Amino acid sequence: MIEASDPARPPRPFARALWRGVSKRCPNCGAGQLYGKYLKVRDHCPACGEALHHHRADDAPAYFTILIVGHFVVGGALALERALSPPIWVQLAIWLPLTLLGSLFLLPRVKGALVALQWALYMHGFDPTRAPDPSLDPG
Ligand SMILES: [Zn+2]
Repeated sequence: MIEASDPARPPRPFARALWRGVSKRCPNCGAGQLYGKYLKVRDHCPACGEALHHHRADDAPAYFTILIVGHFVVGGALALERALSPPIWVQLAIWLPLTLLGSLFLLPRVKGALVALQWALYMHGFDPTRAPDPSLDPG
């Protein structure tokens, strides 16, 4: 249980951190870029120095991205088929690029949200009161 008065674990506003993660910014300060490359989370925030290498997003960003994009694409394709019954090449010409572009757009934002969620909830190495796990050290 997180104690509100624990000086080692000050409160981390969840919604603000989540929004910063979706915005691909550091969940701590909101100023530094979360990523060095497309999906490569920086080891430390360039603005405030917060350690970000503790995240364990793993496959969750891909899972949630597929879940979100899949609902829009499948729903849209079914609605279009029901309304207009276009030829299959029209369906493919619409939904394949939207799937690709939607996934590329959402993946870093979903991953940012998951990293921010882990940070806000003191999960994994983001908890300063927890002994560091040497197997998770990036270098
Ligand atoms: Zn920062």
